Amino acid sequence: MSKKKVAHGFATIAIHGGADPHQPGDPVAPPLIQSVNYIQEIGTAAGLKYSRYGNTPNAERLQKRLAMLEGSEASLVLSSGMGATACAMLALLRPGDHLLASAYIYGGTHRLFTEEFVRHGIDVTLVDPLEPRAWRKRLRKETRVIFVESPVNPTCRVLDLRPISYLTKEIGLALVVDSTFASPVNFRPIEHGADVVIHSATKFLNGHHDVLSGVVCGTEPYIQEVLNKMMVWGQAPDPFAMWLLERGLKTLDVRVRRQNDNTTRIAHWCVERKEIRKVHFPGLPEHPDHEIARAMLDGFGSMLAIELVGGGKATDKFLRKLKLIQHAASLGGVDSLICEPRYTSHAAMSSDERARIGIPDGFLRLSIGIEDADDIIADIEQALK
Ligand SMILES: *Cc1c(COP(=O)(O)O)cnc(C)c1O
Repeated sequence: MSKKKVAHGFATIAIHGGADPHQPGDPVAPPLIQSVNYIQEIGTAAGLKYSRYGNTPNAERLQKRLAMLEGSEASLVLSSGMGATACAMLALLRPGDHLLASAYIYGGTHRLFTEEFVRHGIDVTLVDPLEPRAWRKRLRKETRVIFVESPVNPTCRVLDLRPISYLTKEIGLALVVDSTFASPVNFRPIEHGADVVIHSATKFLNGHHDVLSGVVCGTEPYIQEVLNKMMVWGQAPDPFAMWLLERGLKTLDVRVRRQNDNTTRIAHWCVERKEIRKVHFPGLPEHPDHEIARAMLDGFGSMLAIELVGGGKATDKFLRKLKLIQHAASLGGVDSLICEPRYTSHAAMSSDERARIGIPDGFLRLSIGIEDADDIIADIEQALK
């Protein structure tokens, strides 16, 4: 008797989505097949399996699952978030094309666009996404793609995708969204008009600070184009990385919900502290994008930024006193982390340049994990003293 196909909820898909029906004798934990190549049928080129072709069992199951979570037709897993961004964009842009990109993007993405793409004949204009009608004003007839990152690193600004997607649909551009900071638990850009979604799976999707990986989601024919880029630019992930990512993904829903709850509590606590001059968190009613965040997001996330009274000097002392929250780059995992963008993602800018985009010296970015919120608060409290 065939079972009726039922649509599952998000948490169930994160665990079972894309898996084959169970048979007696199957392992419950999906096996890691650490083989680069597979035995091929004689007399045909069809069905050639190879790790760099993105068609191994660990890859295919994971790709189906990630597409289901984002609500896209297909997805491709790559070796890093940067590999994902590079191949996703190379599949859309040719020399002579024009790219409109938000100025508020990850440092590596900024370098890829302004140093690498420009050298390959792709024109790039960086746009302040908070300026009214900014996108429309900078359109050219060669414009092919609009690229945004939301929520924005490290200021936690949230962009309204609706006016941008009206524009991209009206004139037939691709809207590409890096939604690493939200994870599909909190934000699914395709529901708001995006065509392509990119993640650094190194962050929330894996969630344990032990895998470097990236994902691109989009239509079936487009993902085929991204695969063509991945194959020749060599951006395929290792099966073990995919196996770990699949394991991490199983707890995505509970992790992110717990991170959301922890961070909301911690943000409200921080607001009350006289040693903290400013708290950046879209879940706070006073955050400039609170209403947009409510419309776009299902949860406000676990990225939080604070500015201490006393600026850069106070920051140094504070960081040295923290015991539980670890001073490290990256984000989105189960361990709470803190970093200073002036020494990490935005180190290439001058102090004045950073201040102009809302990152004064002493600006601290936190990625809240799934520890007990009371313990995280106690750690911040003792370090403020
Ligand atoms: C980390 C990050 C990337 C790059 O991802 P890697 O996995 O480190 O290559 C891209 N975009 C955003 C928003 C990120 O946070």
